[in-house]
Amino acid sequence: DAKRTGRGITRLFDESMDEGIRFRRRVEQGLSQAIDKGELSLVYQPIVSRGELEVIGFEALVRWNTEEYGPISPATFIPIAEESNVIHELGDWILDQALAMVQRFPGQYVSVNFSPRQFRRSNFVGHIMESVQRAGVSPGRVQIEITETAIFDDAERAAETLYKLRQMGFRIALDDFGTGYSSLYNIRKFALDSLKIDRSFIDGMGRERESAAIVHSIIHLGRALGLEVIAEGVETEAQVQALRLAGASHMQGYFFSRPVAPDLAIGLAEQRFLGQDVADAPQSNG
Ligand code: C2E
Ligand code: MG
Ligand code: MG
Ligand code: MG
Repeated sequence: DAKRTGRGITRLFDESMDEGIRFRRRVEQGLSQAIDKGELSLVYQPIVSRGELEVIGFEALVRWNTEEYGPISPATFIPIAEESNVIHELGDWILDQALAMVQRFPGQYVSVNFSPRQFRRSNFVGHIMESVQRAGVSPGRVQIEITETAIFDDAERAAETLYKLRQMGFRIALDDFGTGYSSLYNIRKFALDSLKIDRSFIDGMGRERESAAIVHSIIHLGRALGLEVIAEGVETEAQVQALRLAGASHMQGYFFSRPVAPDLAIGLAEQRFLGQDVADAPQSNG
């Protein structure tokens, strides 16, 4: 009857809630030990220029292989880490790894993701500067990726932080652009080098007019503001050609390479040009 069904559903719901909370706690606790246990690693995905498909940088992406659950996606554990102070310890480890790696690249930059909480940490600028100095890396070889949420909540303070970082020579990229709530009008207040178009728009480009229109608008906006525009999640040659015609300056995605382990990334960096099978850029100016 209805009463029993209702109770059954409630119980099931409670159990799955418990399960969810238990999982979060384990992730939180597990993360703080993951570094010492050697369960974390970084993989690197090349970012290429539009014309010659030259590898100009690599995005560092964290991986976590757990004993208990196997590999867990950063899309799952970063938001959990972000809700506790674990994100700082984790973020410091990621940055140090990426800085050690960039010294092995023959010239490319490394692009590191920072969560909103890391970015808003007091003295973020001093902290990151200390890390690069300790590592002996020039800030010009480091790109800082932040999302719209990191900067629009406290726009004034964020603008100041970005300005300082940029003055020190870091590159700044606005990640997942188009998915947040940023006002386009405010974009100009921030010291940025590039906009990264979220891969959901690239994915939809060939199918829906709306996605294609959004991609074109972001590219035009970027150009008007003197910014680079990096298209994320490029998977097909058709997308490469469409993005070149639209005027994207850089591309990143499985079409060129999946994120790969450090030694493979060095190989790609030394190879320098990817996708020889791709036809020449239309109206390429080199
Ligand atoms: P993101 O920064 O936007 O990174 C791009 C994501 O798209 C990566 O997923 C990458 O593996 C994936 N990707 C790249 N090319 C393609 C493609 O052609 N097709 C498809 N389907 N996917 C592609 P990943 O590595 O799972 O990371 C997910 C998110 O987790 C990242 O999104 C970022 O927000 C966060 N994340 C990853 N590593 C870090 C990190 O070191 N620190 C912080 N704070 N966040 C990180
Ligand atoms: Mg990113
Ligand atoms: Mg992104
Ligand atoms: Mg993303």
